[in-house]
Parts: sequence; structure tokens; C-alpha cells
Amino acid sequence: MVINETLSTPVLGEYDAVVVGAGPAGCGAALALGRSGMKTLLIEKFNCPGGAWTTGFMNPFFDFERKTGIVGELVSELKEIGQFGGFWDKSFHYEYMKLILERKLKEANVEVLYNTTFSRTLVEDKRVSGVVAENIGGRFAVLAKYIVDATGDGNVAASAGCLFDLGVDGDFRECQAMTLMFLVGNIPEQYKSGLMIYEKLNAVYEKAGKQIPFKVPYLIPVPNSHFGVVQFTHMYEYDPLNAKALTEATMEGRQQLIDAFEFLTEYDEEFRDLELITSSSVLGVRESRRIIGEYCITGDDILQGARFDDAVAYVTFGADLHTKSNKGQHCFAVRPYHIPMRALLPKDYRGIVVAGRCISGAREAMASYRVTGNCAQMGENAGYYIAEAIKSGRDIRDIKLSFQLTD
Ligand SMILES: Cc1cc2nc3c(=O)[nH]c(=O)nc-3n(C[C@H](O)[C@H](O)[C@H](O)COP(=O)(O)OP(=O)(O)OC[C@H]3O[C@@H](n4cnc5c(N)ncnc54)[C@H](O)[C@@H]3O)c2cc1C
Repeated sequence: MVINETLSTPVLGEYDAVVVGAGPAGCGAALALGRSGMKTLLIEKFNCPGGAWTTGFMNPFFDFERKTGIVGELVSELKEIGQFGGFWDKSFHYEYMKLILERKLKEANVEVLYNTTFSRTLVEDKRVSGVVAENIGGRFAVLAKYIVDATGDGNVAASAGCLFDLGVDGDFRECQAMTLMFLVGNIPEQYKSGLMIYEKLNAVYEKAGKQIPFKVPYLIPVPNSHFGVVQFTHMYEYDPLNAKALTEATMEGRQQLIDAFEFLTEYDEEFRDLELITSSSVLGVRESRRIIGEYCITGDDILQGARFDDAVAYVTFGADLHTKSNKGQHCFAVRPYHIPMRALLPKDYRGIVVAGRCISGAREAMASYRVTGNCAQMGENAGYYIAEAIKSGRDIRDIKLSFQLTD
């Protein structure tokens, strides 16, 4: 059954660029656009910037080393106020990350709309001209010369009709596991610097007579605090593009985290006083759409250290696939490589750029560039590409910018 609706949607504004999603990639893009003098709107469905960095309770900050630009600024400002360090010397406090990002967005004159959910892309003949979104004020449209899809899932590009890959040949069951992160307090003094907790969790799971869902769990303390995040729950074979499946995965994650917490506090003397604070409001999805771009980053590119003259990011982080076959991780080193701007341009489409984990790449490559330092850097440099395209009136495909990327 189909219901046909006739909608009159008010256009609330016209921008140089609208960025959808305020995660690492979206913040990077919005900051570069704002700093380049572009009239920029940033739309975010939650009430803070940071995406997985903040609402996702993610830590630590991977692949920030040697990066300048926004990544370098964030790390040095967090360090200055004593909110960076701790676990693997690269963890941070979520609230300070939000505050610093908000300050930067204000300074860059980026207009920010929280609690606003993207719903549809305005597109004609493969040219994107705006988006429709909804918030407390109702449904509205905004028009822009460029839209940046930084939703993680490639929602804007998919709504425009851009092609994408998913899992292995479209089979979502091969996508990496999902995780519901959760915070715990009162971490025992001896574990204040963090811990791989497999042995401890496996022992208490055995005592409880249950199977452990994941074999490489970490307790990651937040600097200057008595609490930390647990990266443990693992849900396999759920469809990342289906709300019902995401709901079921979340419910399974909640049961897994309660089990882990209760078994630990009941059977492990050292964790008797551990406190359960809360789970993330967002299910952590490692892998979903990979939009097909003008260039697709290949498995060979990451092994051979590919170089491109339109590079927007420099990736050193190894591939890290959370696989169902071993209920663990399949990791391998890469040769540091470039991400080309063409991997952020959906094939044959105009007026749209994707940034973050949804760019065009093989899933093994995505398993490496998906970490936050790379998403923020590619978002930022894509923002400079867009600003140059707008200022010069040239096709973004004809522009070559050169950035200070460590080589
Ligand atoms: C469980 C887990 C653990 C991880 N651990 C680490 C780690 O330790 N270190 C690391 O560096 N990386 C880690 N990663 C990888 C990293 O977090 C992500 O790959 C990265 O955050 C992707 O950045 P992004 O900007 O593309 O997307 P996201 O961070 O997902 O940001 C997307 C933003 O878009 C918003 N959005 C989505 N849809 C809409 C909509 N319709 N309307 C409005 N807004 C919308 C979201 O709310 C969000 O703010 C982890 C990932 C997961 C899932």
C-alpha cells in the first residue's frame, strides 16, 4: 500500500554549502567552508557536534598523529586543557570535544542546527540542489551550491540516487559487527590507564555459563576522571540500512552489556564496585554504504601506499575488521596512502560531496580510513575543494589543491 502526500515545503534559506551530519567528517568540512568565507549550514540530528567522537562514546582518537589542520588543532587544544592523553596516549573527554568543536564552529560563522534530521535530497538530472529536513519547526528545505553528505551512512547520496556498495556484493551480513558502547564508573585504581579485558570477561562469562560475544574487548578510561567506555558488545549480521534490524541490534547490545556488567561485578573481586553509567544513544555502526565515486580506493592502494595528485587525507592506520568468523578482529598493516578527492565525488553527480566512512572504497580499505583522524582530515580538505570550486566557478573535478599531508 502507498499513501500519496502533497506537501508544500518552505525554503528556509540558500547557502553556499549545507553539511549534513556533524561527525568528524562533517565538522571538518563545515569548519573549512566557514573559514573560507562560505555561507554554511551544518545540520545534525543529535544535540552536539562530534558524531561517533561524542554521541558514540568513542575513544581513542586514531590516526591523528602528524596531522595538521583541524585534527592538529583539536588535539593540541585538548592537550592544553589536560583533556587528551590517558589510554594509549590518545583518549579525550567527550564534553570538552563538544565544547571545542562548538567554539570553532561559531568562530568560523557556521550556522548550526541541532535536533534536525535530514529526510530527502533535492536532485534533478543528477545535479543536487538542496535537502529537505525536519525539526521541531516542521519540514523545510534549504538550497545550496554544494551539499556535503557526512552522515556516515551516505544517506544524502543514496536519497539522490547515487549508487553504493554494501558488505560483500551487497550482502549486509558480511558487514563488520555493530557495537553499543557503554560507560562505567569507579574503575579500579590499577586499571586507570586502561585494559584489554578479554581474560577477565571470558573468566566471568565461563562462571556464568555463557558464551562471550567478542574476544578483543577494551576498557578505555576517559582522562582526568574515574569513568571510561567499554568497547565490548558485538552484534553480527544485522542490516545497517533497516531500522527494525538496528533496533533489534540495539536491544541485543543492551542485554550483552548488562550481562557483562553483572558478571564482572558478581564474579570478579577487582570489579565489585564498578558502576554502570549509561549506554550510548547511538548504536555504533562500523560499516554501511560505500558510495560509488569517481575513484574507488582499492585493497591494492592501501597495501602499495597509493599516491594521488588530488589527495585530501593521509592514512597510516591499519585495516581493522570486526569479523563474525572469529568473534574478534582481523587486522593488517597498510603502507601509508592517500585518499583522493575523486573518492569523495559520487560518480556522475554534481553538487554533492561525500566525506567520512561512506566514501568510495573497497571494504578492506574502509576498514583502515574509517577512523576519526582520517574522516576529519578528508572532510576538512574537501571543504577547501568546495570553497575553491564555488569561488572560481570551476567544476570541482578540474581543481587540484595541495595540502600539507605528511609523506
Ligand atoms: C563501535 C565503534 C568503535 C570505534 N572506535 C574507534 C576508535 O576507537 N577510534 C577511532 O578513531 N575511530 C573509531 N571508530 C570509527 C569511527 O568512529 C567512525 O568511522 C567515524 O566516526 C566516521 O566518521 P563520520 O564523520 O563519517 O561519521 P559519524 O561519526 O558517524 O558522524 C555522522 C554524523 O551524522 C549525523 N547524522 C546521520 N544521519 C543524519 C540525518 N539523517 N540527519 C542529520 N544528521 C545525521 C549523526 O548523528 C552523526 O553526528 C569506531 C566506530 C565504531 C562504530
